[in-house]
Amino acid sequence: MEKVEKIWLDEKLVDWNKANVHLLTHSLHYGSGVFEGIRVYNTKNDPCVFRLKEHIDRLFYSASVMAIKIPFSKTDIKKAILKTIKINKVKECYVRPIVFLGYGKMGLNPIDAPVSVAIAVWPWGTYLDKEIVKIKISKYIRLHPKSTVTDAKICGSYSNSILASIDAIKNGFDEALLLDYQGYVAEGPGENIFIVKNNKLLTPTLGTILGGITRKSIIQIAKDQDIEVIEKNITVEELKLADEVFFSGTAIEICAIGKIDKTIINKEKIGDITKKLKRIYTQAIHGEIKKYSKWLTPIFPNK
Ligand code: PMP
Repeated sequence: MEKVEKIWLDEKLVDWNKANVHLLTHSLHYGSGVFEGIRVYNTKNDPCVFRLKEHIDRLFYSASVMAIKIPFSKTDIKKAILKTIKINKVKECYVRPIVFLGYGKMGLNPIDAPVSVAIAVWPWGTYLDKEIVKIKISKYIRLHPKSTVTDAKICGSYSNSILASIDAIKNGFDEALLLDYQGYVAEGPGENIFIVKNNKLLTPTLGTILGGITRKSIIQIAKDQDIEVIEKNITVEELKLADEVFFSGTAIEICAIGKIDKTIINKEKIGDITKKLKRIYTQAIHGEIKKYSKWLTPIFPNK
């Protein structure tokens, strides 16, 4: 992992190597924290954060789900994120805000535990760093929507994603795909999924999955290209008979899927619609499309 100089921790900028917590930090034991994953991209007008407002809104939503009261306003967090990026002089990076319950209270009742917020940034290339990936339908199912709140980014929920990732990687695949409790296609450990069939774009409905911000952006881009978008329950059979399949997510961006278990998709080549959406998305995040410039928050707004 590439280090930078400073991490923002409860209003202080601390040295990367000194950004530590006590071993009895509540969230370390019980996964009671919530977090975000955001990206910064270089554009011709300097670095910009992609869809910062949506990420901050989701962070506060996730915290509210866990009954955590963030001791900062959304504006404070926005300023802190921009400051952390600026101070570390990074141009393209990943941003990881985490809200966690600290030291002082143990046990599963988290009420009155101290709340901390940290923001780390570091250069991080595309998650899987492959043009096309092989995925395994996981032996684990996505968490049941009545077992947790599936559209919140709760640290503890990621044990489900980690188990699925280990299972996929140990079996020689690049990534996992989890089905939901009804057997429909849900999502990857940290990605949403899309399929293309007869030039239409299909993606699982919200309900058991995380409402990805990249997913939302891709849906918008596709609609703007007059590609019909259908949000519905997708069966494994439909998935395997798809013309094209791809993942979307902040970390992975847009990544074509060439093989699902033993089934080859589109001759293991990136399909035309995936290619087109990926191209437009890449232009959008780099500030090359005026219509989507509202998705970008400049790090140096007054320059
Ligand atoms: N699903 C899960 C489970 C995730 O963790 C992520 C990453 N945040 C996504 C989907 C994709 O969401 P986004 O596009 O907002 O990064």
